[in-house]
Amino acid sequence: RLAKESPRKIPIPPGHTAQSLEVALRDLAEILGQQWVKFNDVPLIDGDYHAVPLSHDSYHILDPDDLVPSAVCWPADTEDVVKTVKWANKWKVPIWPISVGRNLGYGGSAPRVRGSLVLDLGRRMDRILSVDTENAVCLIEPGVQYVTLYEHLQEIGVGNDLWVDVPDLPGGSVMGNALERGVGYTPYGDHWAHHIGLEVVTPTGEVIRTGMGSMEGSECWQLFPYGYGPHQDGIFSQSNYGIVTKMGMELLPNPGGVRVFMAAFPRREDLYQAIEIIRPLMIKKIIGNVPMFRLGLQDASLYKTRDDFELDERGIVKPDSLKKVIEELKTGEWVFYAVVYGPDEITQAKYEYVKKQLGQINGTKFYQREDVPPEHYLHNYAHYTTGIPTWRELDRMKWVPNASHMFFAPVSANSGQDAERQSNMCKKRMEEYGFNCLDTFFIGTRAMHHVISFMYNRKDAEERTRALACIRALIDDCAKLGIGEYRTHLALQDQVAKTYNWNDGAIMKFNEKIKDALDPNGILQPGRSGIWPKEYRGKGFEL
Ligand code: ADP
Repeated sequence: RLAKESPRKIPIPPGHTAQSLEVALRDLAEILGQQWVKFNDVPLIDGDYHAVPLSHDSYHILDPDDLVPSAVCWPADTEDVVKTVKWANKWKVPIWPISVGRNLGYGGSAPRVRGSLVLDLGRRMDRILSVDTENAVCLIEPGVQYVTLYEHLQEIGVGNDLWVDVPDLPGGSVMGNALERGVGYTPYGDHWAHHIGLEVVTPTGEVIRTGMGSMEGSECWQLFPYGYGPHQDGIFSQSNYGIVTKMGMELLPNPGGVRVFMAAFPRREDLYQAIEIIRPLMIKKIIGNVPMFRLGLQDASLYKTRDDFELDERGIVKPDSLKKVIEELKTGEWVFYAVVYGPDEITQAKYEYVKKQLGQINGTKFYQREDVPPEHYLHNYAHYTTGIPTWRELDRMKWVPNASHMFFAPVSANSGQDAERQSNMCKKRMEEYGFNCLDTFFIGTRAMHHVISFMYNRKDAEERTRALACIRALIDDCAKLGIGEYRTHLALQDQVAKTYNWNDGAIMKFNEKIKDALDPNGILQPGRSGIWPKEYRGKGFEL
């Protein structure tokens, strides 16, 4: 199909004309097979979680036509990825790999540079290459989703013994989420920390394996992460230095029992003391998973829409109205979901200990599964923490019409002071812009991901613009206090990268040196994480 005959003109990447791009794409179609390369000339239909489009970011925060590829291709294996990378170097077309392409709230399947070619790895490279049941590890390709890995373990009869750490929604790629350093709910909730060994195609088309995989004949690729000499894995996470085609992942052995509980706190000010109490419980591993400390309003958004509340003139939920809903749902101003693992004798003792500690906060109420009705989120939480996929988080998508998510996700120390400071600051700023601040703290051993959910109506251009302006203001507010984000939407990656500015931005200078050395033609994901190849720097590509 010729671009000029298309219903929608395909975007052209920098340095190309419609004609030169078409010649290049026809060449790629010769290499990969005609059916595996498709022009992005389709209407931009947002779809939904189960039908995420490859044409654009379905939760667009900019104009839907801003971050769009010129075409999509579907490599079958590592060799096809190498051929595509070599093609990109020959024709100087920017390319953008995705594993599944959901990446909701962070840019979806969209590339950063308009007119890039998207490599949808997941469609044909979706094999679970091995499961080592004795050592509890597997080797996977990009298209393996949490739900498919879970089902595979059930099918081969080890699902009860080996668990997958599932994140909020299980349709994402296990590899994509680990590369983005996403989090889940079990002791293996830090996904990147539990990957083990990579196969990577470099931006000039070489194939490398990291760790023990770099040795011919080694059987420890998925057992020992480091190998010999420098450890390269880190440079392939949140970067534009390589396309990962295989990844080892650790599976969580069933710990032999589980006790899931929720604690509800009656006052907003309880945040401070609660986090101070939780801090030693985390660092001493008394609580062994990645527990969650969530604002009552965020919890309520699973059951209610914004219009179920009384709102002020800015659209902010009135405190009295929230109180009523909290009573109705039997939650709190803040709710803490956690789990202790092990045989009954152990979990009973640990639970009693945790209860005693948190019980020091006046009015705290504790709930276990038997205390709550069947529709209560605690039952879903029990699934997350035992590696069972659930789609419950989709319920939140009814909060406003055409609801889209965007996340503001700063890192906080596990300290009452930091948590309170960040939460209050974000609430104030978001309310000023007319957004309810919906906080969740995912608590790690020493630090928390403070994930704030922006829910906006993507069909309302004014609301989108306001959401973007608000999140930009938040990034600046936080940077002034030395608070940085762990991950951000495509449209904000330049701004966030600039906040990591110690020693005159030494880290970005280092990142750019690596980029120039590995990717001399600047073809791989220009702009990802704010890292631009030399041809693009200072030419107005930054947002
Ligand atoms: P999800 O798991 O949510 O579907 P994606 O597959 O969209 O996530 O991946 C998220 C982002 O991670 C992509 O936009 C891309 O920048 C990067 N990414 C995903 N898979 C790979 C890969 N195999 N190699 C390199 N980068 C990748």
